[in-house]
Amino acid sequence: MRLTKFYLPTLRQAPSDCDTVSAKLMFRAGMIRKLSSGIYEWLPLGLRVLKKVEQIIREEMDKIGGLEVWLPHLLPKEPWVETGRWYVYGDELFRLKDRKGAEFCLSPTAEEIITSLVRNELRSYRQLPVMFYQFGTKFRDEIRPRFGVIRAKEFYMKDAYSFHKDETDAEEYYTKVVDAYSKIFKRCGLKFLIVEATTGPIGGKFSHEFMVVRTNNTANSSQSKNIPEIAGEETIVYCSYCNYAANIEKAECSYEISQNIQPEKLPLEEVYTPNKKTVEEVSLFLNEPPEKFIKTLVYVEPLPENKNVHNVYVVLVRGDYEINETKLKEKLGVHNIILADNNLVEQIFNVPVGFLGPINLAVVNISVVNKYFLVADRSVEYIVNGISGANKKDFHIKNINIYRDFSPDIIEDLRNITLSDPCPKCKSKSLKFSKGIEVGHTFKLGTKYSKSMNATFLDENGKEQFYVMGCYGIGVSRIVAAAIEQSYDEDGIIWYPTIAPFSVYLLPIDYKDKEIKHTTDKIYDILTKNNIEVLFDDRDERPGVKFKDADLIGCPIRITVSKKTLPDNVELYIRKTKQTKMVTHQDIVKEITATIELLKQI
Ligand code: ATP
Ligand code: MG
Repeated sequence: MRLTKFYLPTLRQAPSDCDTVSAKLMFRAGMIRKLSSGIYEWLPLGLRVLKKVEQIIREEMDKIGGLEVWLPHLLPKEPWVETGRWYVYGDELFRLKDRKGAEFCLSPTAEEIITSLVRNELRSYRQLPVMFYQFGTKFRDEIRPRFGVIRAKEFYMKDAYSFHKDETDAEEYYTKVVDAYSKIFKRCGLKFLIVEATTGPIGGKFSHEFMVVRTNNTANSSQSKNIPEIAGEETIVYCSYCNYAANIEKAECSYEISQNIQPEKLPLEEVYTPNKKTVEEVSLFLNEPPEKFIKTLVYVEPLPENKNVHNVYVVLVRGDYEINETKLKEKLGVHNIILADNNLVEQIFNVPVGFLGPINLAVVNISVVNKYFLVADRSVEYIVNGISGANKKDFHIKNINIYRDFSPDIIEDLRNITLSDPCPKCKSKSLKFSKGIEVGHTFKLGTKYSKSMNATFLDENGKEQFYVMGCYGIGVSRIVAAAIEQSYDEDGIIWYPTIAPFSVYLLPIDYKDKEIKHTTDKIYDILTKNNIEVLFDDRDERPGVKFKDADLIGCPIRITVSKKTLPDNVELYIRKTKQTKMVTHQDIVKEITATIELLKQI
């Protein structure tokens, strides 16, 4: 491709609202532009990368028997009502009406649609197993679109759905998909971890996420200290001793070990704590460790029919721990729960925030409360002679003991795991945290969708059975940004060869010079004939501009044609290692092919 015939609007500076390295570089390299918050246009260079990722995914999906389909993005309400997700998906679902008033949504995922298709199309166990997949735009009204295309409102996804005659078959196939996903991410040059994950609004029995993590070769090791943490929103916890890895949302905590046993239960004692509200403040004031505190938080779930009335969950957790809202939602079986603001807390209990506690806490304003529950994290069961608010301003209570002084309605594992917890799998104290970008998610769905949508087939005995299903997503557009997050330096992007927009950047120092022009044209011809993708910078620009652009867009190899090395040689430069080498015209194809193969190994 001749650059004068291409569109490569590179920028010196990224727009000021770019909040990550990858967003900045995608803008500067002329890969994307922003239409509106979370909505992006993909320019020719960006699209070339996106299409390469898509093709790698397609090949690996086909290898495990996937059949590509194309499903609509504008989806009627009815199947969503059948599964109930029309009501529980919440504000993330884009909803709209046609001119007749019929309701629709823009597809955030397609379980309902594929299940309805299969329900109408397939009949017999002989047609199973089957996996359909598609590439398509997905729409989600994300609460905080950010990090460029990493969290967008409209993005490009590969989603796949498999249908099986029984659990065993579904589980065997799930393993094959996990394997295919690993191959995909490896072929894209990504360093990733497979972690246990929660199932969220998609549901099902279990799930795994594929997380791109920060690597040391993000740039020259001498600079790596200055490089920001990968723009991942997910926190992964992993064990450096065994192979355990999970999204922190999912990681289960052990409780026995973190107990704080003091055998004698002392009598309750009210203490004056003027203006001391947080665990830190009261802990300092009373000179007691945060582990002795029972933190009291108020969560509310507004009723769909009247947003001023709530189900109220007072949630207790040990003072040094954090509540895990994903676990909380899952254990309570609620979708739309939020931390109440100070005004609402005072309205419900007539106690200022900071002085709430589990003893005799009572709802005073019943007009805003539908149901009320006292919920405790397991850690609270192990607190002996604990401290919490006295439910009156400027007072706390000491020596609180569960069951003697209060009894929760619900006790569950509701907190975030910490680095001092033992590994949930091997029990060693070797946990570590890492930030990650979720690029793929696999779900073992079971019969959640087939049952609610009554999708059945006839088994060997002619008996109707529900399909056992799996679903598997990959964020294609997110991968492009994640790959950049893992591989760049101060000059720009460093593409892994398989997803690079072009393998070679061909750079004549002065294209108006006859000899240089002759050689460059010849090389361009040779490379194109040998199917090597090359971007030929035939612009009438200063060499400095061309070198800067070459580094910024990050093709794995740059070939420089200059008077210095002619007539016999041209310079081959490797973007990742910054090494240069002189090569003859005759050897150029061989050298490029060998270098690309080498780059795939590192
Ligand atoms: P997240 O936790 O990041 O919101 P999710 O669990 O909602 O992701 P899935 O429903 O499993 O995502 O979607 C499959 C894949 O689509 C994800 O693994 C991710 O790579 C990608 N994806 C999800 N939401 C977005 C988004 N808003 N923008 C870009 N890619 C996304
Ligand atoms: Mg999401």
